[in-house]
Amino acid sequence: MDTLIVGFGLAGLAYVETLQLSNKTFHVIDAETSGSSAIAAGIYNPTVLKRFNMTWKGEELHALALPFYQAIENRLKHKINFPAPIYKLFSQVAEHNQWAVAADRQGLSLFLDATIHSTPLAGVKSPNGFGKLKECGRIDTRALIDAYRLSIDNFYTQATFDYAAIEQLEDGLMYKNIHAQHIVFCEGYAMVNNPFFSNLPLVGSKGQILIIHAPQLQSDAILKGPIFIAPLGDDRYWAGATFEQKDKTLATSVKGKDWLVTKIEQLIDVPYTIEDHVCHIRPTVIDRRPLLGTHHKYKNIHLLNGLGSRGVLTAPQAAKWLYQSIDQRIDLLFEVDINRFEKTVEKQA
Ligand SMILES: Cc1cc2nc3c(=O)[nH]c(=O)nc-3n(C[C@H](O)[C@H](O)[C@H](O)COP(=O)(O)OP(=O)(O)OC[C@H]3O[C@@H](n4cnc5c(N)ncnc54)[C@H](O)[C@@H]3O)c2cc1C
Repeated sequence: MDTLIVGFGLAGLAYVETLQLSNKTFHVIDAETSGSSAIAAGIYNPTVLKRFNMTWKGEELHALALPFYQAIENRLKHKINFPAPIYKLFSQVAEHNQWAVAADRQGLSLFLDATIHSTPLAGVKSPNGFGKLKECGRIDTRALIDAYRLSIDNFYTQATFDYAAIEQLEDGLMYKNIHAQHIVFCEGYAMVNNPFFSNLPLVGSKGQILIIHAPQLQSDAILKGPIFIAPLGDDRYWAGATFEQKDKTLATSVKGKDWLVTKIEQLIDVPYTIEDHVCHIRPTVIDRRPLLGTHHKYKNIHLLNGLGSRGVLTAPQAAKWLYQSIDQRIDLLFEVDINRFEKTVEKQA
């Protein structure tokens, strides 16, 4: 067997898909505790709306990711891609000019519609109008993972990985009864417990979200004000998220909920009820770039992590880069290679 994959969130899934496209064999182990991918909104948007610019490699990541997910949707015959415009609600009139300038810039012009809209939106507080983002939407990450997992049932084990059970052989490695050429760790924030890579600077950023029921909102667009409010269907909306750097527990808090409620009420003026309150930790890195590469000592142990707050757009390209570096020995970009943290890497197990 070619590759053992540990973790089946967006990273693990993207790596499995990349292997399948190259006719490689694989086996997945996932603890099914919880992951960031299970609670993410799954919004894909290659722009940074706070700063009116593109994200790192935004256009390139978007161009690869959309066909990637669409092919999975078609093959699994399960709807996962929900294209929808994002309405950026302006917090002040001065933003109109910034929007118009940004909409004219190369790259951004593909996504920003230059028109400033002032027609009120039912149920939405938009005193300064809004701008529309095109080519955006939501991947239903939970549905994607559930449907994909079913499709690879024979190559999937639900278990917590035991690092001490890896046995290095001359022709690959053994993990319990599994013989593989490579292991790729795709554990999201849980990587902090991985003895092979725990010294890398995965800082993590906790995000709490609310699922609300708001029958009078009737919005098909994703609203972006102080937070995102994204339609899930059946009058339910995903509302979030907090960005918390200090607290790395997997517990929701009253403080987080109160903050989200305040932001929801700055954005909409219709009644709503709260159906759920959940959280997870985004696998964010100190320099906001993915963590890809191979262990400095064990050349068959690899890492696919650091997808940050943009896992949907980043995962397909990150998986492709890592696969090419392992299979074709194509050098990773320095910006994503774990070797950029050279001193930290040397301290690894
Ligand atoms: C509140 C919130 C909102 C977000 N919204 C968006 C968004 O709108 N758009 C977007 O693109 N991104 C969003 N993100 C970011 C996105 O969720 C992440 O970038 C992405 O999901 C990370 O995927 P991953 O596979 O690396 O990690 P995870 O999704 O955390 O998956 C890791 C998996 O590994 C398994 N695992 C870990 N350790 C072990 C082990 N030792 N043994 C076995 N299994 C193990 C876990 O069970 C889990 O299934 C959001 C994140 C949060 C928290």
